[in-house]
Amino acid sequence: MSTTSPSARVENLWDRDRAHSLRDDLDRLVYASNLLGSDPRVTNFGGGNTSVKTQERDPLTDHEVEVLWVKGSGGDLGSATRANFASLYQDKVLALEERVRATGLHEDDVVELYRYCTFGLNPTACSIDTPLHAFVPFKAVSHMHSDAVIALAAAENAREAMEAIYGSKMGFLPWKRPGFDLGLALRDLIRAQPGIQGALMESHGFICWADDWETCYALTLEFINRAVEALEAQRGSDHPFGDLVLPRRRSDTRAAWLSLLPELRGKVTFQGARLIAHVDESDAVLDFLSRSKMPALARLGTSCPDHFLRTKIRPLVLDPENLDLDGALGRFREEYAAYYERCKRPDSPAMRNPNPSVVLIPGLGMVSFGKNPQEAEVTGRFYLNAIAVMEGAETLSRYVALPEQEAFDIEYWLLEEAKLRRMPAEKSFSRRVAVITGAAQGIGLATAKTLAAQGACVVLLDINEARLSGAVEEVQGVAGSPRAAIGVPCDVTDTTSLSEAFEAAVLRYGGVDIAVVNAGNARRGTVADTTDADYEFLSDLLMRGYFQTMRAASQLMIRQGIGGSIVVVASKNGVAVGSNAAIYSAAKSFELHLMRCAAVDHAPHGIRCNAINPDAVLQGSAIWSDQWREETAKLLGIHPDELQDHYKNRTLLKRTVSPEDCAAAIAWLAGDSASRTTGATIPVDAGVREGFLR
Ligand SMILES: [Zn+2]
Repeated sequence: MSTTSPSARVENLWDRDRAHSLRDDLDRLVYASNLLGSDPRVTNFGGGNTSVKTQERDPLTDHEVEVLWVKGSGGDLGSATRANFASLYQDKVLALEERVRATGLHEDDVVELYRYCTFGLNPTACSIDTPLHAFVPFKAVSHMHSDAVIALAAAENAREAMEAIYGSKMGFLPWKRPGFDLGLALRDLIRAQPGIQGALMESHGFICWADDWETCYALTLEFINRAVEALEAQRGSDHPFGDLVLPRRRSDTRAAWLSLLPELRGKVTFQGARLIAHVDESDAVLDFLSRSKMPALARLGTSCPDHFLRTKIRPLVLDPENLDLDGALGRFREEYAAYYERCKRPDSPAMRNPNPSVVLIPGLGMVSFGKNPQEAEVTGRFYLNAIAVMEGAETLSRYVALPEQEAFDIEYWLLEEAKLRRMPAEKSFSRRVAVITGAAQGIGLATAKTLAAQGACVVLLDINEARLSGAVEEVQGVAGSPRAAIGVPCDVTDTTSLSEAFEAAVLRYGGVDIAVVNAGNARRGTVADTTDADYEFLSDLLMRGYFQTMRAASQLMIRQGIGGSIVVVASKNGVAVGSNAAIYSAAKSFELHLMRCAAVDHAPHGIRCNAINPDAVLQGSAIWSDQWREETAKLLGIHPDELQDHYKNRTLLKRTVSPEDCAAAIAWLAGDSASRTTGATIPVDAGVREGFLR
């Protein structure tokens, strides 16, 4: 991950020809927004907003009206399109001031009225920052959360530093949380100082304006670059974070992460809501963590409201020499609860997860948590922003965090709470990590896709490396995110290979909640004619492999301490023996019994173990390779092409069983719908009387 060091000048990338060739001012706004939002030095992910005011023909009256196009609520400027901008009648937004004055309406309640200002049936909801744009009497407006400028805005001497750097070009807007009143305050500032081209927003960021977007874009970069240069010029020989007092990187980081992450992930789970972890070992993090001022600065917490909504008011710093997780988390939770009690208002929402969302471990790095890998990564990135801001502010003078009550009022803002409530319901496997063996094809791949489509992070294991990469891409495609799946080449008969695969899951997502034990194959043979080699092959794969996978999964789940679900893919043959498949059938019976043993032994840890018994799943199966297919057809006295029909007609329901049918049963057993089911086996065979369980 790139760091957002404030000491890097931003180049002007405006292409005048391209901008001129664009259709209209809204397209030029999108173009400028994409340029600005794609550079982490300009604004943080999802942060900042832009607008343009245009003349449009009102569809109702056919009169020309002024329309404000402003970035919609949520969403990222870097990837914004026309559809991400809300459109409002400018005069109606301005008229809200009179309404507020006449009725004494609270500024939070004004937000509901923005919808009535919508121009052109645009369904995009406007941002809480809309008044900042509406009350600036210029066409193009840019509000950015640049680390370098926030560093000024969060410095003890913010106003003096601003005047020294920008002279009369910039005005100072004292801290006020985003909303209607902040827009009016900005309007008044511009009236009082008509020459300014921008305003520094204390503890927050900056805003600037111009008559067109080419100028506004250049001005945005100028404000950022002047801050970058000023910080650069201020940098003396002393590091703003103090001396190096701890080793930057420990020698055994991999082992340390592996021992820490599962337990930490288990302990930050709140009311059953698991979290996905993201690890950051970048130089910016490690350097901050090894310096003398780190403990004091980390306690101050982050500043920009956008940052700490995700990072929480402050991170947890763990002592690498004494990883007393229970003690450290206990103190953190107590402090958080005390903060909630001190600051809560009569109508505040109930206390949310009191655990940290950012954990810092000197010598190791940072781990951040979120409900999915993207959220976890963004939370970590926001703390990187905070580090850059603190570094800049400490270079200028001293970093000042937001007052506690202000921080609380934003964290527990009713508008934010309403936004959370409006978010679509989480998918059923959101926050879960599933490891699947034999995942590159057949039942394994179908299961990976089913779970990923329902929000799971999936770790695909397979011995077939060539197939594996394609399978991972398919699963990522189904999930709509490259972060949703990883592939690890793995031989389940090899303990080292298997441990490394589970370790990869821990390092990438923080732990494991679901294990689907599926990697298998088959060989024909009676007891009399099975060779030693075939016996070894089958017992290695179907007995040792299943045992080792279940052992690795359950050990990890026990360490996490938040339960888990293991699903064994057995076979109808485990119950009703198949002819001429002695070792295969016996091994499948072993798997079923091993599953029941694990169900009994691991129930106290909340780990459920269940199985499915598929039959004759030919499609995409490694078992139904040419040899087994030919031999089976010969045994039945039919042509190999007739096999599928033969099996279909053998079933009670006269239906073919697909990998997706098996995946559906596995997903049910793996998920919360089966929370009261353990030690069970579900046949997925379209009805085979001999395979009935009793
Ligand atoms: Zn902002």
